[in-house]
Amino acid sequence: MSFASLGLHQDILNQVNELGYTTPTPIQCAAIPVVLMGKDVMAGAQTGTGKTAAFALPLLHRIQHNKSTNQAQCIQVLVLTPTRELAQQVHASFVKYGQNLSIRSVVAYGGASLNVQVDALQQGCDVLVATPGRLLELIMKKLINVSALQTLVLDEADRMLDMGFIIDIQRILKNLPQTRQTLFFSATFNDDIFALSKTLLKEPQLIEVDSRNTTATQVEQRIYAVDKKRKSALLSFLIGSKNWQQVLIFTRTKQGADELANEMQKDGIATQSFHGDKSQGARERVLADFKAGKVRGSYRNRRCSKRHRHRSITVCDQS
Ligand code: AMP
Repeated sequence: MSFASLGLHQDILNQVNELGYTTPTPIQCAAIPVVLMGKDVMAGAQTGTGKTAAFALPLLHRIQHNKSTNQAQCIQVLVLTPTRELAQQVHASFVKYGQNLSIRSVVAYGGASLNVQVDALQQGCDVLVATPGRLLELIMKKLINVSALQTLVLDEADRMLDMGFIIDIQRILKNLPQTRQTLFFSATFNDDIFALSKTLLKEPQLIEVDSRNTTATQVEQRIYAVDKKRKSALLSFLIGSKNWQQVLIFTRTKQGADELANEMQKDGIATQSFHGDKSQGARERVLADFKAGKVRGSYRNRRCSKRHRHRSITVCDQS
């Protein structure tokens, strides 16, 4: 299958070509036609499968079509993400894929100036990418108008539930138009996810490109049985002996992330911690340093999700 055969707007095809995407990924082949038809979708997709383009490309196509037929209204697409970083990443994708179009994407998340985000919204917004808390604040303070919303996307729905956003999501839903398209993306499926999806989706098309709840195919997993007090020494040994250059370690608590980062620094490994108690500026600096290779190890805590319940620390070799 080619991108051209999916019926996307020529300006979108040109941009996809410019980005060097030759063929759609499996999730894109399956989801793009269904999203273009306006149907609800429940998709199982890991990060790295091209899932962002699977919803961004057809939604940009629809907005462009509405604009050309003068049906354009403020905030047609709302994407909810569990973290600020994912919100920034999804917003950057809309900007990247829509570069040849006159479509405006705005990103809104907590820990950053509300006024700056409101100013950006007032300059016009077709796509809003937001985290649940900040979106709720914007709705409650009547700073945004979501009455013309056509499509709601829940990205990484499983992580949203893991992070305790269910009440916020339910309050947001009460303020959105009932008649809309809803796209639901989750890396894992369990009973909670199915229960949430039932309250959101109407006759959804179920799309699963991998067998259910599998990890990404390019990730090799290993388990080391080790006493708790020797975990940081083992980590330092693995990083040093295997010469890993970019390492992400997940810990169960924020304090655990800080303590581990300190231990690793004492072992001479350039390391920073990353979690929700850090200021937005500090989080952005850590990520930028990590991407630029200035930090070798980066630590972040994540709530003990069902996916990580059996592993207090996960080391990802990204080199
Ligand atoms: P995602 O799963 O949305 O986080 O995307 C993972 C990466 O795949 C991103 O860096 C995208 O730019 C890239 N990507 C998405 N679709 C394609 C495609 N069809 N061909 C090549 N790369 C792609």
